[in-house]
Amino acid sequence: MDSTKHATQAATGMLPQLATLENYDPDSMPVEQARLFIRQFLAPLDRAETVDLHEAFMRTLAADVPSPMDVPPHDYSAMDGYALRHAGLRGATPRLRVIGNSLAGHPFGGKVSAAECVRIMTGALIPEGCDTVVMQEHVTANGAEITIGADVAHGQNIRRAGEDIRLGAIALRAGQSVHAAEMGLLASLGLDKVAVLRKLRVAIFSTGDELLQPGTPLEPGRIFDSNRYSLYGMLSELGGVEILDMGNIRDDRDAIKTALLDAASKADAIITSGGVSVGEADYIKELLSEIGEVVFWKIAMKPGRPLAYGKIGASHFFGMPGNPVAVMVTFMQFVGEALRILMGQQPKPVFTFKALCTERIRKSPGRTEFQRGILSQDETGAFFVRTTGEQGSGMLSSMTRANCFIVLPVLQGNVDAGSMVEVQPF
Ligand code: AMP
Ligand code: MG
Repeated sequence: MDSTKHATQAATGMLPQLATLENYDPDSMPVEQARLFIRQFLAPLDRAETVDLHEAFMRTLAADVPSPMDVPPHDYSAMDGYALRHAGLRGATPRLRVIGNSLAGHPFGGKVSAAECVRIMTGALIPEGCDTVVMQEHVTANGAEITIGADVAHGQNIRRAGEDIRLGAIALRAGQSVHAAEMGLLASLGLDKVAVLRKLRVAIFSTGDELLQPGTPLEPGRIFDSNRYSLYGMLSELGGVEILDMGNIRDDRDAIKTALLDAASKADAIITSGGVSVGEADYIKELLSEIGEVVFWKIAMKPGRPLAYGKIGASHFFGMPGNPVAVMVTFMQFVGEALRILMGQQPKPVFTFKALCTERIRKSPGRTEFQRGILSQDETGAFFVRTTGEQGSGMLSSMTRANCFIVLPVLQGNVDAGSMVEVQPF
């Protein structure tokens, strides 16, 4: 069967306008197009749950969070020094009487008049009657009296109530993920519970008769299954994912079909590795069009072609190649972002910049290549990059040594040493 035709038909069932889309070629989609194209199929999870703040870490906020208070809640001193009333300052070297202390957590209880001041520490409440703080370095203290030897601006050295966040203002937006700063911010609002989207359930399994479970003895002609472990790591780093690890499924049509249907009944997304080439035991594509729908099959990238995307029932299906580096690259370029959108997050811009390539790179035009690179910076701030060496798509050590991708565009041929290339740090 003509695979292009088949894929187009299946996708057409899913989204009629695909057939009329210009340049829609499910068997060789440019990287950028695939990245945008896939978004139309991705609707965010719609169920929220309220969880303890610790539980919210790396999850997606389900609703805007209006601030229940001013932050800071009152006026506080930003310095160690003396709180006073600006209107009470007289002459070039004003003198004031010290009538008490205001420490963090121990406010001064009384009221301060024009000729008076209060010794105050950073983070302590500004006493009633005061509107200005003079830092202690600008003051000479003698007994219960101080002399101020510097110009004093009205209102200086005070952190105002609400200067960070006003009561009722939206402190965080629905769709933001809760990282360390958001954890701290939510806590600063006094919130110990927060509404987040439920976790995304992602089923993963590997396919391949050659695969062995780590921890078992190696046998001739076999290799250890590494993809489920790198996937586990990348999914965990995304946060907000519940991973259903379905193990390794042998290269058997029925076994893979059963696993796919099982996964589709339990998970929002399914990620498999292996079995997407056109080899004898590569059943994934055939099965996907039988029990689901194929949207695209190949992306014009290296490593990573083929990469399948489609749906099985309500589940999103990502069929990754078997090669371990291809699994990581396709996840980092596509799948991770797709899952983030399912988790209700905004797609993040992909930041790249130019660096001077210190060596010659071989490349043939036709696909976008993501070579593993080592990026460094010299004392002038200039960026230099070299590859990690051999770029075989099975060589995971290249990923462990790399700190960036060198992104070589589709039409690019060989790269000369000394030319500028685009890098994407990670
Ligand atoms: P496939 O896409 O199934 O043809 O696999 C391509 C290559 O990746 C083969 O050399 C496989 O042995 C290897 N491979 C497939 N799955 C895994 C896996 N889970 N872990 C490590 N290598 C794999
Ligand atoms: Mg295989």
